[in-house]
Amino acid sequence: MSKKLFTPGPGNVPQFIRVQLSKDLIHHRMSDYEKILKRVEKKLQEVFMTKQDVLVLTSSGTGAMESSVVNLFSKGDEVLVINTGFFGQRFIDICNTYELKVHQIDYKWGQTYQLQDVKEMFNKHPKIKGVFVTYHETSTGVLNNIEPLGEFVHTTSALLIADCISGMIHHPFEFDKWKVDCAVASSQKGFLLPPGLAFVALSKKAKEAMTESNLPKYYWNYQKYINYFKKGQNPYTPSISLVLALDIALDMILEKGIDRIIQEKMMLRKYIEAKMQELGFELFIKDEVIKGNVLVPILSNHNYDINKLVNFLDNRYNITVSKGQGPYTELMLRIGFLSEFSYEDIDDLVNKILEYKAIEDENQNEQVS
Ligand SMILES: *Cc1c(COP(=O)(O)O)cnc(C)c1O
Repeated sequence: MSKKLFTPGPGNVPQFIRVQLSKDLIHHRMSDYEKILKRVEKKLQEVFMTKQDVLVLTSSGTGAMESSVVNLFSKGDEVLVINTGFFGQRFIDICNTYELKVHQIDYKWGQTYQLQDVKEMFNKHPKIKGVFVTYHETSTGVLNNIEPLGEFVHTTSALLIADCISGMIHHPFEFDKWKVDCAVASSQKGFLLPPGLAFVALSKKAKEAMTESNLPKYYWNYQKYINYFKKGQNPYTPSISLVLALDIALDMILEKGIDRIIQEKMMLRKYIEAKMQELGFELFIKDEVIKGNVLVPILSNHNYDINKLVNFLDNRYNITVSKGQGPYTELMLRIGFLSEFSYEDIDDLVNKILEYKAIEDENQNEQVS
């Protein structure tokens, strides 16, 4: 039985990508690779909607998050982290690791940020040099609206760094127009690929800040990536297989069109929401405006034992569904639908949950009688 990942990353890898991944390696210092990397770079610029460089790193998403900190800031710099969940907290942890002076605004899980709070922080701390935000907060399913934040941060001397790791492809994103300075993404979320590649878009303002940063960095040094990119190379051996697969994944994404992908995902999200409510789950986020299209977060409200249900689906049917994170580990399911999903896949999941419920009810009755 094949594995189906109903998780908000990694996503299921489509067959045409698996075929590509099984092919011969080519060498990353030869011209055939250089041609492909240059082509990939153009397509990434289209996806990020930018004329600026989009670097390709061999790493998971968190590595790219860390790289943004070490390349753009110096020890003691004041930064602001908009913390709307587990991944906002990760930026705080990384900034603390490098001894930046972190100001943070913590929001209740399931809520988005308020621009007014950000403006007040700048009034109180005018030396803030960077603002970190999570576009789609994968722990809660909240989509933080980046555009007004970009408009505001652009009027200050600070940089705007956006974690778009689960946000890319499934939601609109316009790096240049929204005035983002650094956006990070990774291969296993919206890009149809396994984990292993991360992408970093950089504005001119970000590149200027790079020249002032004194934090230690070797593997992450953006300047080396920028220099090598000019000749179609990466400074160190890249995940060649993944770059080749990225080339065809981006073709697929751009041919289909990101607008259409977003529409399809939104419809699928609404379908899952309706089905899960029928099963007795409660939607964690009710406000349509802040919902993302990567996962449906639902609360069990004691109707289900989350641990038992997740293990049942995985052990018996090879269906993996994510539990909640942080305070919601035992209380929430996060039904992810990255990559290829059909309505039949959702119906299948619903039937398996019904089967679990029937078995549980039977056990309960036996205990009572
Ligand atoms: C998945 C995810 C990450 C972490 O990425 P890794 O590839 O696991 O390092 C960071 N931020 C967000 C919003 C994510 O969804």
